[in-house]
Amino acid sequence: MKYDIIIAGGGMIGSSLALALAPLALRVAVVEAVPRAAALQPSFDDRSTALSRSSQRLYEALDLWGEVAAAATPVRRIHVSDQGRFGFAHIDAAEQGVEALGYVVINRVLGATLQRALDRISGLEIICPAHISSVHTGPQQASVTVQQADGAQRELAARLLVAADGAQSSLRSMAGIGARETRYQQQAIVGNLLPEKSLENCAYERFTSQGPLALLPLADGRAGFVWNVAERDAGRILALDDQAFLAELQAAFGNRLGMFSRVGARTGYALVLSKATRLTATRTVLVGNAAHGLHPVAAQGFNLGLRDVAALCDCIADFGLDHPELLRHYAAWRKSDQSKLVGLTDGLVRLFASSSGPVRAARGLGMLGFDLVPGVRSLFARHTMGLAGRLPRLSRGVPLP
Ligand SMILES: Cc1cc2nc3c(=O)[nH]c(=O)nc-3n(C[C@H](O)[C@H](O)[C@H](O)COP(=O)(O)OP(=O)(O)OC[C@H]3O[C@@H](n4cnc5c(N)ncnc54)[C@H](O)[C@@H]3O)c2cc1C
Repeated sequence: MKYDIIIAGGGMIGSSLALALAPLALRVAVVEAVPRAAALQPSFDDRSTALSRSSQRLYEALDLWGEVAAAATPVRRIHVSDQGRFGFAHIDAAEQGVEALGYVVINRVLGATLQRALDRISGLEIICPAHISSVHTGPQQASVTVQQADGAQRELAARLLVAADGAQSSLRSMAGIGARETRYQQQAIVGNLLPEKSLENCAYERFTSQGPLALLPLADGRAGFVWNVAERDAGRILALDDQAFLAELQAAFGNRLGMFSRVGARTGYALVLSKATRLTATRTVLVGNAAHGLHPVAAQGFNLGLRDVAALCDCIADFGLDHPELLRHYAAWRKSDQSKLVGLTDGLVRLFASSSGPVRAARGLGMLGFDLVPGVRSLFARHTMGLAGRLPRLSRGVPLP
């Protein structure tokens, strides 16, 4: 079978890419390892994701935003504090001249919206559950062997292979691209709870002695939390009963939102910074976590991946799939955004992990400067909203031609 594009991985990024490519009327196949039943899909789990403005615009351009927004909670303020220190920093949507800084959506809910939309695309083939077991690339096309879960094997070919199969991308390795990994020795413990006081559309980020703790506003007055704790403590914290868990989380966050109660199930994610050594190989390109896996401290990994999707679609629309400049142009365009966000997230984790007196004093001053100087706030807000640098069409809300 011959396709224009084969996408390995039908998670958050692979599905979004298949949807974004639809107007280009290409023959596309998605090869996804995990059965489509939502309960099993690791990309569409119970995490809450903060979508940036550029992600909102991409879904607007795909005519999906109405469905996503119906299940999303707007973030109008971000409040940043450092445990054990006075003072805080904040970013305000009104000050930035926008209706919301971002929107929080549960991955499972976003996943269901994306899956429904995929079913509406005629001509898209989803091969699932299946994985690519071998790759052979040449100047004209890439040939792959697809191993289906029922034991059947298929030989497919495409003009472009896209690795959207996550941080441990096997397509990346098969294409001969390495990845540099740094383990943070931290786990993110994720779940939701009911605070006594409403978050009132504010997202909280608190830097604690264990690691950063984020509380995100959800529907029904609930809050999603992402609590980054030291790897050595994660097993013990995950094993705590509801009462004991809430007591530890409350001690880390403080009483700004009153007492916490009704905590849901908790899941732990080991945190690793991964960065592919290259973004392209012959007839192959990397997007999303296959290209870069970030610490969730600034809630940027998925948003960055959607800008990969938007840039790749722009390059395909402008150059076509056989142009020698396609891959070089994509890689050059994505380099700066990816490096900046790797630097930003990694820098924040390291800065706030330090317990040295001078570093703590400097970051206190930094937060003060951040809060007092609106220009600094605006610059940071533009980056976290995904609006910095040269943006591809879809990230500006402009549909593909
Ligand atoms: C705790 C936590 C909180 C986060 N919060 C945010 C946030 O608020 N905002 C934000 O922007 N980002 C956030 N992120 C990052 C975000 O979740 C990821 O960037 C995003 O899931 C990446 O999507 P992906 O599709 O590239 O990879 P994945 O989600 O890993 O999906 C990969 C897909 O490929 C499939 N697959 C794997 N191997 C194969 C194979 N061999 N063949 C075929 N298919 C395969 C998998 O089944 C899966 O469907 C968070 C991450 C964590 C851990």
